Amino acid sequence: MRIVFLGAPGSGKGTQAKRVMAEHDIVQVSTGDLLRGAVAAGTELGQKARAAMDAGELVTDDIVLGIIAERLAQPDCANGFILDGYPRNLQQAKDLEPVLADIGQSLDAAVLLDVELDILMKRLTGRRTCSKTGKLLNIYYSSQEELDAVTAAGGELIQRADDNEETIAHRLEVYREQTEPLIDYYREAGLLKVVQGEGEIDEIYARLEAALGL
Ligand code: AMP
Repeated sequence: MRIVFLGAPGSGKGTQAKRVMAEHDIVQVSTGDLLRGAVAAGTELGQKARAAMDAGELVTDDIVLGIIAERLAQPDCANGFILDGYPRNLQQAKDLEPVLADIGQSLDAAVLLDVELDILMKRLTGRRTCSKTGKLLNIYYSSQEELDAVTAAGGELIQRADDNEETIAHRLEVYREQTEPLIDYYREAGLLKVVQGEGEIDEIYARLEAALGL
């Protein structure tokens, strides 16, 4: 299956995409992860993307198009992929079409993970990543045992550079202005599936599997 995940920052796209990848032969392709990798590696591309990311702005369309075209052409994407965080505006949705045509593929669905604003804020301000395993945790929602296990194993709970309150507010604004119009775009294309994204990770995942017929 070839799926686009829509949804605000903090809606659970990454968490759910990783779960789909673990249980089905579908690769998660996250432009945010690819960009953070480029920033950490100090590549030229990473240097170009960094300021926009730190400010909660979108990186330019041509940079992300290059990244996504290169990633989707790799062999592990042939069986299917989830685009997590791409497209983020109408231009990117249009840019994606020839990229898919070039590899002889088309989208099966666009999933909107629907979450209220107050819950998004709590998920984003509380979000942490284990420095050792990359596991996603949340200081408000993860159990004390899960949080303690990270430090006991010698890991640290790392907060993303763009998960501070000011940048979060701006990322949510950018989402409303630039990304939300994609909901209608994919609805008109007959691809939209809305999944209620609040509650336990397991129950959201069950709703997602049902919506996609996985
Ligand atoms: P994410 O991990 O998806 O929340 O993305 C983190 C940051 O990476 C965003 O705030 C943007 O600065 C940048 N980014 C990720 N995906 C895109 C995209 N498709 N277009 C432009 N910028 C992006």
